[in-house]
Amino acid sequence: MIEVFRALLELQEVDLQIADLQQERGTIPGERIKGQEVLQIGNARVSEAELAVTERSKEQRRLESEFAVLEASVERFQSKTSDVTSNEAYRALLREIEMAQEKASSHETAILEAMEGVEEAVRALDLAKQEAQTAAEQVAAEGVALDDREKSIEADLGTAGEQRTALAGTIEPKALKDYDYVAAKKLPAIVFESDQVCEGCRMTVATPEVIDLRKAKKLTTCIQCKRILIAKSILETK
Ligand SMILES: [Zn+2]
Repeated sequence: MIEVFRALLELQEVDLQIADLQQERGTIPGERIKGQEVLQIGNARVSEAELAVTERSKEQRRLESEFAVLEASVERFQSKTSDVTSNEAYRALLREIEMAQEKASSHETAILEAMEGVEEAVRALDLAKQEAQTAAEQVAAEGVALDDREKSIEADLGTAGEQRTALAGTIEPKALKDYDYVAAKKLPAIVFESDQVCEGCRMTVATPEVIDLRKAKKLTTCIQCKRILIAKSILETK
């Protein structure tokens, strides 16, 4: 029976390796999604920055066209000065001209500010594009690394699967069936009993069972965690 135990433990090593590989493979789609999210964030920032450039340029053009209207009105008022007949009307016209000039002047300041705003938005857009580009390159490189990792995991799983088939073929069918039954539910499926304690669940194993275990005549399971128990001492002594 000890040889069966040894073979089962060897099989379990392969199964643990397979479980690790499957677990690692399971994380890959999540990694890919994370990469896609990084790309989306980068693209969203570029779109946002593009919109800011558009809006600020629009604001600049709006101010410029208003400024043209104001300048035209200053000119119009100025052209009327020669037609004025009374001093009062002349003073009123001068006030109109002054007010229109003030408006035009404050618009000039606003246009300068708007131009700075456009420049700032263009710089922010360049930066967003650069960052998106860097992120895209990084995600692409990570994608290649993920492809490689996936391929290597698949190859390792293939090898482990072959190893498992070969090993399983050497194990007595009943013992293999019992092991597979437990292993389908939890790994490790086989744990050691040492000092009357199940190493799987840390519960005390009753004395009669310990005696049975140490005789190693059959497969025994822990009544607590339902794993197959093997007395550590039998593997050490023989
Ligand atoms: Zn247990």
